[in-house]
Amino acid sequence: MSVRDSLLSIVPVATGEILVVGEDATRKVVLLHTTMLGVHTRQAEGQERAFESAVAHVDALDCVILDLGLSSGDPWELLRKLRTDPKTSAIPVLVVFGRPPSETELVRALDVGAHDHVTKPLSGPLLCAKVRALAERSRAQRELRNKLKSALENAAHDALTGMFNRRYFERRLREESAHAKRHQRPFAVVLVDIDHFKLVNDTYGHEDGDRVLVHVAEMIARGLRDDDVACRYGGEEFVLLLRHTDAPAARVVANRLRQALGGKGIALGPKEDVRHVTFSAGVASADERNGFDVDEVVSRADAALYRAKRAGRNRVEME
Ligand code: GH3
Ligand code: MG
Ligand code: MG
Repeated sequence: MSVRDSLLSIVPVATGEILVVGEDATRKVVLLHTTMLGVHTRQAEGQERAFESAVAHVDALDCVILDLGLSSGDPWELLRKLRTDPKTSAIPVLVVFGRPPSETELVRALDVGAHDHVTKPLSGPLLCAKVRALAERSRAQRELRNKLKSALENAAHDALTGMFNRRYFERRLREESAHAKRHQRPFAVVLVDIDHFKLVNDTYGHEDGDRVLVHVAEMIARGLRDDDVACRYGGEEFVLLLRHTDAPAARVVANRLRQALGGKGIALGPKEDVRHVTFSAGVASADERNGFDVDEVVSRADAALYRAKRAGRNRVEME
């Protein structure tokens, strides 16, 4: 069995990239082993270049192999920087000692942030096994980070009320608009804004203000059909997307919600004052006559909401 085959038999081929930082001779030896693994190996000699390269390729790098015997620049400082700078701190670092390290040197390397070490003369199988272990760990973490990132980006719910959030509304609105246009069926948008909400916060504090938001969200959710979409639009504003509904029908729905909310008080403050919260709402619909432009239907609902506020609040106005 060739050296290459014996290496491959113990170390499955990796697919990522590694960065090797060291003098010419060290880089050559590392390169020899790691290219046999199938990893793309980047090289850098100087401290600055090495850091720049790590930053530039952070999304692909599975690990950095850093020779602590590097004479250009300060390898210990580079190790510290790689491990503490938020731009590179996720990349594991394997350090290379020129001779078997003392316990003190090893502790220092681990303290500064090295994940593992190898000693010259480098053993191919050991180096590859360590690179592979770090690469696997780094890929698992990268996958987790990407999942978390996309979960955050796709988060559809508002943390306080549990309602859908604005991002979700915007996505659903575009989908609904395309559907409505294709089938030439109307849909309505209702913008809801709690009246004098600032006064609730000012009188009872922010926590009770939050309780009012949850109360209103519950009243809205309770009064809608399964097909309707209710979202927290931001602050003390909510938005409803009513499928297959024209503006007069949406006004009926909004008024029913308004009356239900007005009829159910909420106890606030240490004396449990029962307060009846109200809202104002603006209704607009998208249909053949008005067109199906999403921004436009929202801005017509907003204009109607503005009129409802101007006309004295606790009312629903239609475009
Ligand atoms: P209007 O009848 O004209 O709508 O008056 P308003 O007081 O409801 O409207 P304004 O825009 O003046 O005040 C909204 C307030 O909502 C101000 C802001 O501090 C509060 N607010 C926004 N988000 C939250 C939140 O998540 N929790 C709490 N408690 N208050 C919030
Ligand atoms: Mg508002
Ligand atoms: Mg308000």
